[in-house]
Amino acid sequence: MPRHATTESPAEGRQETPPSFLEAVQAQFNRAADLMGLDAGIRAILSEPANEIVVHFPVVLDSGATHMFDGYRVQHNNVLGPYKGGIRYHQSVSLDEVKALAALMTWKCAVVNIPFGGAKGGLCLDPADYTRSEIERITRRFTYSLQNFIGPERDIPAPDLNTNAQIMAWMMDTYIIGCDVEDRGAMKHVVTGKPIEIGGSYGRDIAVGLSVLYSIEEYMKLAGWKQGLNELTVTIQGYGNVGSATGVLLGERGAKLLAVSDHTGSVHNPAGIDPVALRDFVRSRGGVEGFPGAEAVTATEFWKVRSDIMVPAALENQITSANVDLIDTRLVVEGANNPISPAACRRLAEKEIPVIPDILANAGGVNVSYFEWVQNKNSQAWRLEKVMQELEFSIKTNLRLIHKHAQRPGLDLRTGAYVVALERLSSIYRLRGIFP
Ligand code: NAD
Repeated sequence: MPRHATTESPAEGRQETPPSFLEAVQAQFNRAADLMGLDAGIRAILSEPANEIVVHFPVVLDSGATHMFDGYRVQHNNVLGPYKGGIRYHQSVSLDEVKALAALMTWKCAVVNIPFGGAKGGLCLDPADYTRSEIERITRRFTYSLQNFIGPERDIPAPDLNTNAQIMAWMMDTYIIGCDVEDRGAMKHVVTGKPIEIGGSYGRDIAVGLSVLYSIEEYMKLAGWKQGLNELTVTIQGYGNVGSATGVLLGERGAKLLAVSDHTGSVHNPAGIDPVALRDFVRSRGGVEGFPGAEAVTATEFWKVRSDIMVPAALENQITSANVDLIDTRLVVEGANNPISPAACRRLAEKEIPVIPDILANAGGVNVSYFEWVQNKNSQAWRLEKVMQELEFSIKTNLRLIHKHAQRPGLDLRTGAYVVALERLSSIYRLRGIFP
């Protein structure tokens, strides 16, 4: 089913074409820009990506057949520093989707105050259709096509949906081989999210789970929740990199994982699911379906499970008018990018369910990527404790700032986060001016 096929606003009795992902992201930006009275010139600059790179390249598959692939890299804005953003492999990747994700990266880097601009990339393919060696050749050829557009001080890719540390290792190797410089060893920070052995950072694999956790801890303090995490229940949609790290970290603090849903099915256990056993099962079997430690349920039953905290950690546009009224939780934390449609966001606000927005809650990925980049540039290797400490400071400090903005009339946490980001970006433009 296409991702934007859900009919919005059935409760209001009208058929409404839901906005595309790109339109939804632009609407979030416009709302915050209106509320803060963003300068018209800066608004115009930030409304468009700086560069849109589209590549088409051939790869010979294991069968001997030659297949053409479509790849994208969108560089949204680099006023804060080099472009930075993940590469996703998914059958629904399109230029518009990548444009939306690249803009989100600009806001995300600004929210956590790191010196990177926003970018995103993707390949339109279903990785399940290809063997490991085909994925390696596709990755290397895609990287080769982007050789002149990426670089350690220019644009730095990282993992995202269906990409991982191994894919980053192939990207790094291909980029370095193609570089006409003497000191190729000094170029490894062209990508982040690498395996530890070749310059990756401790904590990058769990970074988004950590930022979800720190967001929850700080929000509970700000909102005056009396219980500890060990008294709370959680449901998670998506149990890949982000979802499983979130489940395991919350589980370590005693939270009870009640239900998990992914592309293979949904599972529920009122007594609690073992998050580590589920992570290991998903790693070996590809999804939650068949997990012996819980009962299989339908997707509708999954959304209905009552919890204290719900973490969508799969794809965009998963909580829509079609399921928002099933949700019975006290707090939604966006592990995925843009997982809630605009109409569902409005409905959650009516139901007084707060949402910690993606541009803070999942910023752990880019934040620890920044730490990895700094370590590579300075030939350092930080301990996990230092990574966690720096990330915790960044997420909690910025959530407090966002929460303060969100107390103003008409603002919520998402708009508060956009205001923080846009104020930081505006101040740079005011200082630097606009060339010439
Ligand atoms: P992943 O590929 O490791 O996992 C994706 C998960 O989504 C899997 O559990 C998969 O089963 C599930 N899923 C896919 N299609 C689904 C569907 N139709 N219905 C239900 N579940 C479905 O990806 P990830 O890295 O965990 O990324 C998840 C989200 O987090 C994405 O929105 C991504 O952009 C965002 N994100 C990732 C990072 C990162 O560093 N990996 C950083 C920031 C944000």
